[in-house]
Amino acid sequence: MRPARPPITPALVAVSALAAAHVAYTDPTAPRPADPVGADLCAAGKILRFADGPALPLPATEGAGAPASQTDVLHNDLSVTVDPAAGSLTGANTMTIRSLADGLTEVGVRISDQFSLPQVLVDGAAAPWTRLSPTTIRVTLPTPMNTGDVFSLTVAYSGPGVAAGFGSITFGTHAGTPIFSTLSETWYAYTWWPHKDDGQNDNRDKATADIRVTAPDWMTIASNGVLQSETPLAGGLKETHWAATSPMTTYLLSMAGTNYTRFGAVWSHAGGSMPLDFLIYPENDTPTNRNALLQIIPMLDVFSALYGPYPFLNEKYGVYQFNFPGGMEHQTMSGQGSFGQSLSAHELAHQWWGDEVTCADWSNIWLNEGFATYSEALWQEFRPGGSVAGLHAAMAARRPTVFLSSTFIPNPVNPNRIFNTHYTYRKGAWILHMLRHAIGDQAFFDSLAAYRAAHAGGGATTDDFRAAVESVVGEPMDWFFQEWVFEPGAPWYEHAAIERVVGGQRYAEVMIRQASPPTYPIYTMPIDLGVTTDAGLSTVIVRNDAAAEHFLIPLDGPLQSVELDPDSWVLTEDVTAVAFAEGPPKIVAVTPAPGSTAPVIDDVTITFQAPVTISQADVTLTGPGGAAAFSFVYDDAAQTATITPAGTLTPGQWTVTLADTVVSAISGLALDGETNAAPPAGPMGGDGEPGGAAVFTFTIARPADLNGDGVVNGADISFILSAWGPCPIPGPCPEDLNGDGAVNGADITFVLSDWG
Ligand SMILES: [Zn+2]
Repeated sequence: MRPARPPITPALVAVSALAAAHVAYTDPTAPRPADPVGADLCAAGKILRFADGPALPLPATEGAGAPASQTDVLHNDLSVTVDPAAGSLTGANTMTIRSLADGLTEVGVRISDQFSLPQVLVDGAAAPWTRLSPTTIRVTLPTPMNTGDVFSLTVAYSGPGVAAGFGSITFGTHAGTPIFSTLSETWYAYTWWPHKDDGQNDNRDKATADIRVTAPDWMTIASNGVLQSETPLAGGLKETHWAATSPMTTYLLSMAGTNYTRFGAVWSHAGGSMPLDFLIYPENDTPTNRNALLQIIPMLDVFSALYGPYPFLNEKYGVYQFNFPGGMEHQTMSGQGSFGQSLSAHELAHQWWGDEVTCADWSNIWLNEGFATYSEALWQEFRPGGSVAGLHAAMAARRPTVFLSSTFIPNPVNPNRIFNTHYTYRKGAWILHMLRHAIGDQAFFDSLAAYRAAHAGGGATTDDFRAAVESVVGEPMDWFFQEWVFEPGAPWYEHAAIERVVGGQRYAEVMIRQASPPTYPIYTMPIDLGVTTDAGLSTVIVRNDAAAEHFLIPLDGPLQSVELDPDSWVLTEDVTAVAFAEGPPKIVAVTPAPGSTAPVIDDVTITFQAPVTISQADVTLTGPGGAAAFSFVYDDAAQTATITPAGTLTPGQWTVTLADTVVSAISGLALDGETNAAPPAGPMGGDGEPGGAAVFTFTIARPADLNGDGVVNGADISFILSAWGPCPIPGPCPEDLNGDGAVNGADITFVLSDWG
């Protein structure tokens, strides 16, 4: 479903500008500034529509979490006669049901008490029933059913159609002509047809359907699936029979009828062709509207390329006009109040995301709406003439401005909360946008394919989607889904950058702080930095995962600017450039190179990006025999510490450890020294935050000391003489000191060159 967008008027533009205005936030403990009044205008159409409905009581089970289902509905055979003049319905639904339990004695059916129920049959015989609530009855089975037993349950009903929700059953007019239509989402199907009681928070049981609608013969009937027949009946009536052959969740079953103008089209796809069925009001049958609807053909091409084949190729896709100020993705037949390309793209994309793969429960509605909303932006990227700029513009237009609640809905009892524009639609779309940038295009679309393959024809949760992503990227993704789906908010970044020059090398030191309100998480996100020097622009990705971090980036020329997330891949509530604050010391250079091997090391130098307070007590030097004595000098001007061993370092591995008791001479913050952090926040390591020792190893080796006695002398030459000649294949051949494949005079020369 997609809510109506308000028309763009000068007044609304002014509100948007206010909402986007910079809000400085300096004290994280202070109350948050109030969200600007009217920032939630985009949801107004739906909220007003919802408020129009009479306040039907919520059923006792509503939102309480689905009880473990004991039945699987295989098929709904719904036959209903609609009297538009009276606003009433008379009909019956015969459900084909398979028991999932032994000793099943009762079946719950949702049907409003606005209807009389003249007949309830189990396998064709009258069955007793009791009403549990205004929405729900319990039918007693004449004989208990066991696992796998299949039986039929018929509930006949008659009475006035009284709408709930967003207009679950409405009788209205367009240009003075009667129209009726349905929109059951979320749990309001009970206001117009009897169906399995699924606890109101479980969308996973899907069934095929035959839908027979009898209405005045001048009406054309829109519904799910494939049109089977239109049969004239006595009294100026006509029965229209649609058959939905793909399993469908309850809230997607629909019907609408009026004096539609029908026009068709054929979509040719890789595997053949599929009919398109468009039903619009005669007064709206204009070339402009027809052309707008025919844009669905390239949309089918684009979404099939991105998501895989259209899910209901054996049926159809269609759009019918109805009076709802927005759209509703009824399976194979979307209702739309208008024909703009974003609305059409949204409802079409729902056929994959919402209809074929359905949110398992309303807590996870973003899996429907976030996907459909992101599809609007993907259409702008991949449509004929589309562009990445179009993608980013579309996402900017879909930026949420309210962040108080999470996208995941812990207690989904209020449809206005479930369909909140900011949390469900916009942030839901941004979650996908950010995931795409975090894992890359290939992994993102592979993840969508894995998710679809695992849950097509059923329902899914956020954890199911996360598992699909993890199956593609091969690493845990809970950090991403936890902070973005299950927590409120979006980051408030503060950032600054300065240039440093150390030993002739230029660096940008970038400070990123998260100044979000305390109710928000500290976000872990890869962030693009657009680094511009005299040599040009480059993009550096840093992994920001703390409240305050400093990153050190080597430069190829004088620094001009550093832009945080220049393409706006990260959803932020606030980004503020602030004054640079000195961070922790970072190591920019070490000699000799860490990990290197040398016959002798006279001293080790360590250079910092900024002045530090350091002493010999901060340093240890250990080798094969344990700690070794050394002398220590710190050169303030060069920001370099020099460690000189007291004696000759013996062969083996040596380790220089710099404790994080080294602190910045300016900020007093402790060394950011981790040498195993990935990715490093500086050229020699670090994780961006103060704290963490630096550990460097070197190897002293004298290959000519063949017997390892610490001296190169005649004993080593005797090793060469005893191995004289070509090296054995395969080796080893340690006496071949110059690596030419033979032990010979050249190796004796090598020994003599390292004598002593
Ligand atoms: Zn939608």
